[in-house]
Amino acid sequence: MREIGHFIGGKYVAGTSGRTSDVFNPATGEVQAKVALASVEELRAAVENAKAAQPKWAATNPQRRARVFFKFVELLNQHMDELATLLSSEHGKTVEDSKGDIIRGLEVCEFVCGIPHLAKGEFTEGAGPAIDMYSIRQPVGIGAGITPFNFPGMIPMWMFAPAIACGNAFILKPSERDPSLPIRLAELMIEAGLPAGILNVVNGDKTAVDAILTDPDIGAVSFVGSTPIARYVYGTAAMNGKRAQCFGGAKNHMIIMPDADMDQAVNALMGAGYGSAGERCMAISVAVPVGEETANRLVEKLTPKIESLRIGPYTDEKADMGPLVTKDAYNRVNGLIDRGVEEGAKLLVDGRGFKLQGYENGYFVGGTLFDNVTPDMDIYKTEIFGPVLSVVRAKNYEEALDLPMKHEYGNGVAIYTRDGDAARDFASRINIGMIGINVPIPVPLAYHSFGGWKASSFGDLNQHGTDSIKFWTRTKTVTARWPSGIKSGAEFVMPTMK
Ligand code: NAD
Repeated sequence: MREIGHFIGGKYVAGTSGRTSDVFNPATGEVQAKVALASVEELRAAVENAKAAQPKWAATNPQRRARVFFKFVELLNQHMDELATLLSSEHGKTVEDSKGDIIRGLEVCEFVCGIPHLAKGEFTEGAGPAIDMYSIRQPVGIGAGITPFNFPGMIPMWMFAPAIACGNAFILKPSERDPSLPIRLAELMIEAGLPAGILNVVNGDKTAVDAILTDPDIGAVSFVGSTPIARYVYGTAAMNGKRAQCFGGAKNHMIIMPDADMDQAVNALMGAGYGSAGERCMAISVAVPVGEETANRLVEKLTPKIESLRIGPYTDEKADMGPLVTKDAYNRVNGLIDRGVEEGAKLLVDGRGFKLQGYENGYFVGGTLFDNVTPDMDIYKTEIFGPVLSVVRAKNYEEALDLPMKHEYGNGVAIYTRDGDAARDFASRINIGMIGINVPIPVPLAYHSFGGWKASSFGDLNQHGTDSIKFWTRTKTVTARWPSGIKSGAEFVMPTMK
């Protein structure tokens, strides 16, 4: 059985803890590899490598650091098919969708090619008599990233690209469910010219995560995953004196106003609700049509499209979506569909029991649609993370707006309308981090920042964009007075600009 180890000190190393976890092919249910689960000592070995390499990397001028990313982007493009296939083989999503995953990470690597400009400091000449003042951004030292299974390319790159470009060394702890791609990315970073020890990949579970959170040499931790773990990582990292940004779960609503182009809205819901089998933190899982007539038109158009979704393994080039990632995810999503039925929601399309010939043991769930869902139901409150869309009917705009406003999560939200006033009012009043106006999955591009509000995010600086440069650096401000400006004698009064 193939074993997946770690990448430490610029090379692949086998695990030594004796603990492993199964990596499945989600389309067949077969165990295809075992991933090593790191011990505290293995994590510490990665930190020692990072610590030894980081000062020289921080002292490398930013143009040279940028050149590694120029080359890395080139390598990602060259190896795109291989990387996307590797990703799909463990995650289960279609190869085209995996390319999207990698490209969204690649775009952050392109963004950090501008690091000489992005991390420039500020200078004030003549802040006082012969006084100059300047602020510089220095790396935090060693950063760590803990990532979820659903974007094993994009999210590691969101974290390690800005961290490394800023002059830090980095420890990545990927999801144990699809660990191969991150190791391959680290190999390509070395091929692109990154010195050994700057990017280390340590596979593992809670043991490795806790070792990161308590390690005295790690200065900043970035986490993406479910809300309970995000909350735990944020609290533990902060208690241990680390800077932390932790992104959690979601329940994203799409409001469909009576004036919306219904075909556009339906197509948007299909892609945003069922793409990647709903395993996206920005997936739309709640559709909120405004008015009975809008709701009836929506459901009538959606139902046949969901029934005719093409579901297949990642090797099926024509598939719209693949299986869920694990048996646990499969059981959980089926259980939540059962729960929706018990709660009295109207099940219009039932994805339970979907079987694909030749892949009977795969973790496939068919596209599912509930109507007449209400805010007190568990299927409304819970992040299902599967191909399940709930329709919550709202009488008017205010009632529709109230739903995402009152929901625990605040990652993304969308409105479909032709009415500029309604769209503007919506974007201004909603308490959610990322808003789409006739855009179903409003994931900001690399040069803007990604992050939710409420229980979808803990910490105050977001992923990528200028926030990421701030997160992975510390500001130092220098005040310099030159002898011509120094009066003789001690000054006992607090200096001011009086
Ligand atoms: P998860 O929380 O199970 O795992 C995330 C990471 O935490 C993994 O690396 C895992 O090994 C580690 N982990 C798991 N249990 C742990 C524990 N008890 N202690 C310490 N570490 C632990 O999440 P997942 O299932 O891999 O990913 C899906 C979740 O991620 C969904 O909730 C989704 O919404 C969320 N997500 C959020 C965003 C965002 O930007 N807000 C993006 C992608 C995914």
